[in-house]
Amino acid sequence: MKNIISKVPTKLYIGGKWKAASDGVQFTVYNPATEEALVEVSSATVADCLSAVDAAHDAAKGWAATPPRARGEILRKAYELMVERKDFFAKLISLEEGKTYAEGLGEMAYASEFYRWYAEEAPRIMGQFSRSPAGANNIMVSHKPVGVCVLITPWNFPAAMATRKIGPALAAGCTVILKPASETPLTALALAELMEEAGVPPGVVNVVPSRSSGKVVSAMLDDDRVRKISFTGSTEVGRILLSQAAQKIVNSSMELGGNAPLIVLEDADVDLAVEGALVAKMRNAGESCIGANRLYVHSSIYDEFTRKFAEKMAEFTVGPGLEDDVDIGPLVNADTRDKVKELVDGAVKEGAKILTGGKPLQRPGFFFEPTVLVDVAPDSAILHEEIFGPVAPIVSFETDEQVIGFANNTPFGLAAYVFGSNVGRALGVAEKIEAGVVGINRGFVSDPAAPFGGMKQSGIGREGAHEGLMEFVETQYIAIEW
Ligand code: NAP
Repeated sequence: MKNIISKVPTKLYIGGKWKAASDGVQFTVYNPATEEALVEVSSATVADCLSAVDAAHDAAKGWAATPPRARGEILRKAYELMVERKDFFAKLISLEEGKTYAEGLGEMAYASEFYRWYAEEAPRIMGQFSRSPAGANNIMVSHKPVGVCVLITPWNFPAAMATRKIGPALAAGCTVILKPASETPLTALALAELMEEAGVPPGVVNVVPSRSSGKVVSAMLDDDRVRKISFTGSTEVGRILLSQAAQKIVNSSMELGGNAPLIVLEDADVDLAVEGALVAKMRNAGESCIGANRLYVHSSIYDEFTRKFAEKMAEFTVGPGLEDDVDIGPLVNADTRDKVKELVDGAVKEGAKILTGGKPLQRPGFFFEPTVLVDVAPDSAILHEEIFGPVAPIVSFETDEQVIGFANNTPFGLAAYVFGSNVGRALGVAEKIEAGVVGINRGFVSDPAAPFGGMKQSGIGREGAHEGLMEFVETQYIAIEW
């Protein structure tokens, strides 16, 4: 462990240089599996972040003028370095975030793929040319980099949430300032070092961890040179950032919270649905924006599904993510664990029964038992708020119309899952669900080649695919006469 941590930079990365915070302040990063301090990291001030804006602004013209193929080749090199160093990064992610080593490797495969995908997309920023319908002139449409971007990421996937933004931004010709979550700044700092090695010029990528997130981000959004904010995190913080971005009309992309329903129709293969539900629920110990938050199972198979699902949940081994044979790591911090406990206790008070689990583990680290709840009251907070833990509340339903109503009864619309043997029927249900991402007969839906994002209060814009690239360009139309 010490060997991994000693290799990670802990200062701010601004304009291609490593700098301590201008006021010398640092903050501590903890290991959620032991509650022990890992290392101290510099905490960027407003002045530091504005100097990162200077650096990004100074580098912007040169990077935008770098041929798309050359930008793509740097991203390709970064992809190769990530693949080469996946073991190191998987351990680092596990140490600061808590996920298991196997999940860390999974995140690295996903995260690195964004660089490969956008290396290939960089030369494919196509324009358009047409004759105006009235024949008066010609219409030429081209896309330009939007400019200096502020990227803000959450802690749950510290590598993937960063590459999902940096990849398309750099491919489009933008320069960036990344502010990673304070729980997990180390992966982002190690990525900055890797990007430099891949050939990213000074100022194109800047990384500024900060314990004063609100202050520093608001100062950057108030700087006229910042033209884009791309945020992944809670809907609550997204709302604040959108109102700040409104002051200077800053281009905004928002990947926010979810409340994903997982629906098991009466004709579903129960064993397949159980396996899919375990994947959709338990990824990253349940700390995933697309994690199945509430399970709706048809009454005719409810008993069989809940019994089989609870048996499998009880078999998981919970423990530190870097230990052998551990399936589920700790939650990220005490607040997250306590919120999960509060939601479970509240549901039980309102009549829910616990089939397995139900409480935190009595040991150091923020562990919570894999938990299954049945007979959950429809108004229980656990069905309406993001649980962000290894807890599955299961509710029965009678008709497709009824379950579609349940699924859509939320201000969120990020992900949903439908299980059913008749794919046409499952597709019919999926199309009526207000969610940006739907899995049919599978619990794993993340793919860098697919447009990912939410409807309703789960977000604005898409990441991944060609759509993700277009979030970082401005369109210019020129009317030409000749
Ligand atoms: P969060 O509290 O909203 O924090 C996200 C990021 O915003 C962190 O870097 C945080 O910095 C920063 N931040 C907090 N307050 C801020 C403010 N006033 N101004 C500017 N920045 C601020 O979310 P989280 O707890 O890290 O992550 C969990 C949430 O992210 C969940 O709701 C989850 O659903 C969502 N999420 C969504 C997606 C998606 O693609 N839709 C993906 C992953 C996660 P500090 O760490 O310093 O507070």
